[in-house]
Amino acid sequence: ERKELHRLRREPTRTVDGIDINLYANAESREDVAEAHALGATGIGLYRTEFLFLQRAELPDEEEQFRAYRDVVLGMSGRPVTIRTLDLGADKADRTGLVLRDEPNPALGLRGVRLSLARSALLETQLRALLRASGYGPLRILVPMVTSREEIREVRSQMKRIARELRTQGHEIADHVPLGAMIEVPAAAIALPGFIGSIDFLSIGTNDLVQYLLAADRNNEALSDLYTPLHPAVLRLLRDVIRLAHARRKPVAMCGEMAGDALYAPLLLALGLTEFSLHPGTLLELRRVIRECDLTALRGRLPLLMRARDRAGIEAWIESHRPNA
Ligand code: PEP
Ligand code: MG
Repeated sequence: ERKELHRLRREPTRTVDGIDINLYANAESREDVAEAHALGATGIGLYRTEFLFLQRAELPDEEEQFRAYRDVVLGMSGRPVTIRTLDLGADKADRTGLVLRDEPNPALGLRGVRLSLARSALLETQLRALLRASGYGPLRILVPMVTSREEIREVRSQMKRIARELRTQGHEIADHVPLGAMIEVPAAAIALPGFIGSIDFLSIGTNDLVQYLLAADRNNEALSDLYTPLHPAVLRLLRDVIRLAHARRKPVAMCGEMAGDALYAPLLLALGLTEFSLHPGTLLELRRVIRECDLTALRGRLPLLMRARDRAGIEAWIESHRPNA
């Protein structure tokens, strides 16, 4: 079986009825990027920049960040690379003094884009490094924890100002660097019709979306039964977000753990998802399963899925739509 998976490195991620699905990789290290490239990933769908900031007492400066981002872009030799701005919060062990230490409720605190906007020098440095890296190949910037339109508009206006400054300083940067939002706060998903016009692409972060939608801590083992994407509220929100994005012709990917679980692939295809971003370690397994799926048939079974009223109902749908089941 490992041999069969290995062979799939050079095969397209094409459904039985001939539709190509994009498999991007989540990455946070050089090794992940090299693996993604070797496995034929469409690109990098989520590059988490937190690791550059963790386990150290000093913030990485512009030059260090620039080199790291440029190396990701070069490592993918022309395939698109999506780099996420810093998503630190009191839940992650940073030693730089950037993050408030004792927030009562870290998941609901000053994290993600909120922290970036509160520390403008931090965002400025990161955007300068990212925009400089855009001169080396296709790069997209992804913003975490977006809750409302103002946040993304603020990031975009800073991006525009910094791009102008960089050009005046003689840096070569891409003409257009797409700016996207993580959809992981329920308010952003629900209010999406009002701000989808302000973003170039979307990436659904189910790890946090599920946590906030179900009010269930993603790290609390006592809640592991509750914390699941197999809830009708989650499926409905996913369906609506994907549908709206397609209607408005905005690329939409899913980069939470849900996207990397082959068990969920038929369900996600039925919901309309065509771009998955996942850890390179599971990429070939997902490709194998998708190559056995009939997209047209699955899409036709969406109404049945949406009628499921509980987890058992959703699981029954999944069970009866297993490829080769
Ligand atoms: C998510 O929330 O689904 C996500 C991909 O981001 P992270 O796991 O880094 O919070
Ligand atoms: Mg998240």
